[in-house]
Amino acid sequence: MMSEPTAGKDAALIADVLARQRRALAKAITLIESTRADHRARAQKLLEAFLPHTGNSIRVGISGAPGVGKSTFIEALGMFLIKHGHRVAVLAVDPSSSLSGGSILGDKTRMERLSLRQEAFIRPTPTAGALGGVADKTREALLLCEAAGFDVIIVETVGVGQSETAVAGMTDVFVLLQLPNAGDDLQAIKKGIVELAEIVVVNKADIDQDATGRAIGQMRSALSMLRHASPYWQPPVLAVSATKLQGIAEFWQEIERYRQLMNEHGAIEIKRRQQTVAWMWALIESGLHARFRAHPAVRRDLAALAASVEAGKTSPALAAERLLGYLSLSD
Ligand code: GDP
Repeated sequence: MMSEPTAGKDAALIADVLARQRRALAKAITLIESTRADHRARAQKLLEAFLPHTGNSIRVGISGAPGVGKSTFIEALGMFLIKHGHRVAVLAVDPSSSLSGGSILGDKTRMERLSLRQEAFIRPTPTAGALGGVADKTREALLLCEAAGFDVIIVETVGVGQSETAVAGMTDVFVLLQLPNAGDDLQAIKKGIVELAEIVVVNKADIDQDATGRAIGQMRSALSMLRHASPYWQPPVLAVSATKLQGIAEFWQEIERYRQLMNEHGAIEIKRRQQTVAWMWALIESGLHARFRAHPAVRRDLAALAASVEAGKTSPALAAERLLGYLSLSD
């Protein structure tokens, strides 16, 4: 049971977040990032209270290799959006942060101007270990930011492993940042990231116009050969200079065009519903896996059965069936 003082404190926290207080939002996110069982229980209550206040934002995923200019671009975009009356939250999914101990947004010098603005909220990557953990926390943080009245949520990720898929699975529109050189294109195409992109931005266009033109042409032809997820939208390729603030307004115009077009077909709503169900299934699967591993009978017999399978004495199917059968027994 939650003690009364804690419940009262949480009620005040909920009210403060809904009243758009950034410090309360930061505190609420810290609570949802905690792995302590009592914190988890409080966090779930908080999330439930916030749920009716979520959904009123455009969720933008931004991905790109380190050094491509993500934080420069997000800062430029954020300042542009604030000027036009928006409130902007920036979150991150960075599975490498748990290894390196740092995070892509952890460095205080990044997005210096944006972080000083009342209308912005910047949150470093949670250090929850596995990608699944980091992504789940970021999903929950995103909902909290919406409850706190942020109408543009940017989720940043680096080009590492499955993090792009995770971010594309929690945002309305997924943006890929590229450098104006062909090698960068090939990398992204090879990794299957281009398929996820609804908008491709070639950043640092100020350095070499010819190279930028070539990169845009290559990317357009690559995109035209891919079957894209939405039948309503052909991903555009844009030239941007984040440092010279060129192409930022045009970029946002594309986001608005995307939003309008997709909304005409109810496609964003459908996408979001599918994302929440997929999230539930991911949680069920990781929960089942954890429960299986923790089951006393599984722990007792797993090593011996695996050895027996390895020695060719037991079939994999039989061993799996037996171990899975333990799950239906109460422990
Ligand atoms: P991130 O690792 O993707 O977040 O990249 P950063 O935003 O930290 O940028 C990496 C470097 O590229 C920095 O030195 C930036 O100043 C520089 N940079 C970013 N955008 C541009 C741009 O549009 N033009 C030029 N010339 N440099 C840029």
